[in-house]
Amino acid sequence: MSKHLTKRSEDYSKWYNELVVKADLAENSAVRGCMVIKPYGFAIWEKIQAELDRMFKETGHQNAYFPLFVPKSLFEAEEKNAEGFAKECAVVTHYRLQNDPENEGKLRVDPTAKLEEELVVRPTSEAIIWNTYRGWIQSHRDLPLLINQWANVVRWEMRTRLFLRTAEFLWQEGHTAHATKEEAVAEAKQMQEVYATFAEQFMAMPVVRGAKSESERFAGADDTYTIEALMQDGKALQAGTSHFLGQNFAKAFDVKYTSKEGKQEFVWATSWGVSTRLIGGLIMTHSDDAGLVLPPKLAPIQVVIVPIYKGEEQLNAISDRLSPIIQDLKSRGVSVKFDDRDTMRPGAKFAEYELKGVPVRVALGNRDLENGTVEVARRDTFEKETVSQADVVTYIIDLLNKIQENLYSKALSYRDNHVTEVNSFEEFKEVIENKGGFVSAHWDGTEETEEKIKELTKATIRCIPNDAIEEEGICVLTGAKSSKRVLFAKAY
Ligand code: AMP
Repeated sequence: MSKHLTKRSEDYSKWYNELVVKADLAENSAVRGCMVIKPYGFAIWEKIQAELDRMFKETGHQNAYFPLFVPKSLFEAEEKNAEGFAKECAVVTHYRLQNDPENEGKLRVDPTAKLEEELVVRPTSEAIIWNTYRGWIQSHRDLPLLINQWANVVRWEMRTRLFLRTAEFLWQEGHTAHATKEEAVAEAKQMQEVYATFAEQFMAMPVVRGAKSESERFAGADDTYTIEALMQDGKALQAGTSHFLGQNFAKAFDVKYTSKEGKQEFVWATSWGVSTRLIGGLIMTHSDDAGLVLPPKLAPIQVVIVPIYKGEEQLNAISDRLSPIIQDLKSRGVSVKFDDRDTMRPGAKFAEYELKGVPVRVALGNRDLENGTVEVARRDTFEKETVSQADVVTYIIDLLNKIQENLYSKALSYRDNHVTEVNSFEEFKEVIENKGGFVSAHWDGTEETEEKIKELTKATIRCIPNDAIEEEGICVLTGAKSSKRVLFAKAY
């Protein structure tokens, strides 16, 4: 495989797939639609997990774990949820294999080992969790119940793409129970904000906070709040969702509590999730034709140090000089890799770390040794600077912050330049076709119009932004009255 990536301008989708594989993040597996996440990719996921987990706990949530399998009778209890996911379900029907009498050396399903009740491999866990909550919730004193689970789920997706849409994916799913509607709505909105904060401050990925239209809502939800990001090719990505589930699951699973007044009431619910899709979003927001670009806060290696030397003596001298610098960086929480492999030339190492998106590269050669300097290169702009060894630690810490900020402001200005207000369907089509990005347009609020626009342009309603202003307008397609603009885009 060639070291060079296809250019984004030539074939964005090919660039993406090559990048994921060449940067050693993930690869396709023997199972259709399922990926192997490699150590470097998994290290990014662990960073994402660690920070989100901290944020969930800070907002009062606890982790728990529920089974992978959902008995079909539980799965079908909340009808809308079941109907919405039915087409994507993997189902376990048997629990044993045996030697195939007609095919030596092969196995077959043992026909006598058929399960009495089929088990659905969870595409989402509301059913199994709400069936459990019935035993956990009796009184108002048991509420709110604030639980999160880190898990894998399976959705039999037909068109898959590494990280962005896979048949099995890793995610977290929050499932909370509340005494009142107001509390549940506030929880769902709070978690949308947690996701948005994480996306912006850690992933350096600006997002639009909004609500889904009815047709794009989670199956079984009364409202879905979303964060929508914009990728460099002008397509939108739903990066995370938080649902207000009303009393739908409480009613389906008969989960009631006794109120302070002694009345029996159904419980109110939320659920919310983000997945390994975030890594796809991270890649598509920042990376370039040389490879991955990672925001320092999520980079498994923040600083790589490459000694440039001939022979062991020089290497020892360089290592001695670098050792206190490395110690100092580590003690300040910076993750550093010292790459003194003698099997690879410095230039090849530089290219490898560029491909892998390491934010800062430090190189030190013989002349630096004499001058008391190092060369510091930043991945986001490729700029290089000669810095004195005495100042390099504070310089690097400052630089990591600058890179984080620069990535965010670059992505934000791209995003802001790709939100286009349109007032006619001609303009709408023109922008979607040629410029891409979000189109802000009036919509008459009907599902038929939404469907028609999708059919004609492939653009869908990404969200009704939280900060949409009330204004009189007319629907771009039908001319009917509208009071708000919504955001449309082609999406992943
Ligand atoms: P949902 O439970 O459908 O709201 O999904 C929660 C989040 O998981 C979505 O907002 C997506 O970011 C992500 N997601 C959904 N389907 C997939 C998939 N097939 N692969 C990866 N991530 C997904």
